Amino acid sequence: MEYPNMKTFNSAHLPMVLEYPAMRERFLQAARSAGAALVEHVHPLHGPDGSPIFTDVALLGRPDARKLMVVISGTHGVEGAYGSACQTAWLKQKSAWKLQEDTAVLMIHLINPWGAAWSRRVNEDNVDLNRNFIDWQAGVPENSAYADLHAALGCTTWDGPERQKADEAMVELQNSKGQAAVSAIIEAGQYTHPDGLFFGGNGPVWSNRVLSTILNQYGQIATEVIVFDLHTGAGPYGYPALLSVSPSDHPGIPWGREIFGPAMVPVITGREARTDTGIAATATGYVSAFVRNAMPQARVLPLVIECGTLSSVEMQRAVVDDNWLHLYGKLGSELGQRIKQTLRHSFIPQDEGWQQNCLSTSLHHFDRALAALKEIESHPTSGDRSERKRVVTDAVVPRGTPAVEIIDLHKSYGPLEVLKGVNLTAFPHEVISLIGSSGSGKSTMLRCINFLEQPNAGTVAIDGEVVRIKTLRNGSTAPADPRQIERIRARVGMVFQNFNLWPHMTVLENIIEVPVHVLKEARADAIQQAHALLSKVGLSEKHAHYPGQLSGGQQQRAAIARTLAMKPKVMLFDEPTSALDPELVGEVLRVIRQLAEEGNTMILVTHEMQFAREVSHKVMFLHQGRVEEEGTPVELFGQPRSERLRQFLARTL
Ligand SMILES: [Zn+2]
Repeated sequence: MEYPNMKTFNSAHLPMVLEYPAMRERFLQAARSAGAALVEHVHPLHGPDGSPIFTDVALLGRPDARKLMVVISGTHGVEGAYGSACQTAWLKQKSAWKLQEDTAVLMIHLINPWGAAWSRRVNEDNVDLNRNFIDWQAGVPENSAYADLHAALGCTTWDGPERQKADEAMVELQNSKGQAAVSAIIEAGQYTHPDGLFFGGNGPVWSNRVLSTILNQYGQIATEVIVFDLHTGAGPYGYPALLSVSPSDHPGIPWGREIFGPAMVPVITGREARTDTGIAATATGYVSAFVRNAMPQARVLPLVIECGTLSSVEMQRAVVDDNWLHLYGKLGSELGQRIKQTLRHSFIPQDEGWQQNCLSTSLHHFDRALAALKEIESHPTSGDRSERKRVVTDAVVPRGTPAVEIIDLHKSYGPLEVLKGVNLTAFPHEVISLIGSSGSGKSTMLRCINFLEQPNAGTVAIDGEVVRIKTLRNGSTAPADPRQIERIRARVGMVFQNFNLWPHMTVLENIIEVPVHVLKEARADAIQQAHALLSKVGLSEKHAHYPGQLSGGQQQRAAIARTLAMKPKVMLFDEPTSALDPELVGEVLRVIRQLAEEGNTMILVTHEMQFAREVSHKVMFLHQGRVEEEGTPVELFGQPRSERLRQFLARTL
């Protein structure tokens, strides 16, 4: 079989390789050096170069270990380049040799090797492996809505009038139903169109049976198991989300919260289920659900790392085109090569920053998982698991003086009442997100905290100091003491939607301005600190640039560094990513996330629901100037109480 040679890109410096033989070679080499026991499962078909393909299994540690970490790559074939790179990188670290006696690590390399070798998301049977792990005895799930989309998705010609009709039909569907609804139908999986998208199969496929075999062999003794299934292609660009997908609640979920806090987002799947994570909650048959059933003796925490790449519309296009190519096109043609290259680069961006970040974040999660397994040893639990002490980490225990306290705040513009009495308490190290549609008052509330807006009534206290307000003769209000406002503003850092860097100053000058001129720090110290902050936000080389020479994402990171230079008691973020092109959102979210993990006190107004869910200790939903609902991210996103919040979440899905 003729197959295009993809090595047209200058990708030698990138950490992720796209060719199956290179992925396998690197993995095996790293596994051998780490002293792993290797087993190979040979696939009945061959790769594009005619050579055999395998799922390889590497076990580090004892087969009878009480604690086990499992890492699976390549469930969705083409995404395996990322998963394989993670497995190989972890094996190459010294940590592989330092496992505890009672802990083993099982690396399952490319569970869908055909898809990985041929750069397809599906397997050799056009099956989406993550829809294949259903209970086949119980019959297949129904998805009658898919039939209406199939004609538009499965057009047999590449161009011409028929194709034009199909494309128009798809655009019409996207416009009438909304892209989120269209994706939800497609991604729910279907069991009726073997040539269609997200096809779940007619029974357990090769990869399904092999995974059963592997877990039968290695997964029957351990009692504490953490499983990572590694994916790309959904969610914001460059943003590796940590999810736990399952059809129902189970003991692994609170365990996951203990380990990862709000960074882990549980996704409960089901017919009517919704999620803002970019993956399909309406689907069943996930690997995650299967691993729990396959190891019934253990407490299992199934995790998915999902690294966002392009938008859902672009991803759908790439997958639809690839489906056409394998059904009706020619792989070796110029068009075929172009489609294949687009698909590969859509799932694995040829972008060093994307690759490095997804790799390092994933390794960080593996380390946390192993640290958590180690932790169990130091507090052995006897027998009954329900006795296990549960630490609720998604709600910080309030301690000390609040960094910000707002009581009964009102704000009007003329006759328009924008805030109708809102309260907020942010304790040190707490991260609070304000969500709601535009006009709900969330930005106004934020701007009242540092008196960019003058509240008409109510109290604002920063770090315990109440801001004194006087009423003017005309009835409006103003701060009683301008010096107090100055002092307070120096303790409250603000990051704006449009960055608001001073355009005539270099990045470095922007950062040292407040430390030198307001906080009266020595210039040399301020410069030294500025360089450290620029390195932290990944802008070391840009210190002498002017804001106009930077991308929006770089400007916003510089603005964050400038805010950090004030050493604020609390940082306010006013829709920090909404002015950015979608591909620049991830780099800014990463910086903010890091600040959250480092324990900075932060209040965010954001439209990035997935992000709010991951970094926040508390989320407040505003509606028409009131706090309609507040709680932990799990409560608000998982079990919204008010109908308005439910509607809001459905719209932002
Ligand atoms: Zn995937």
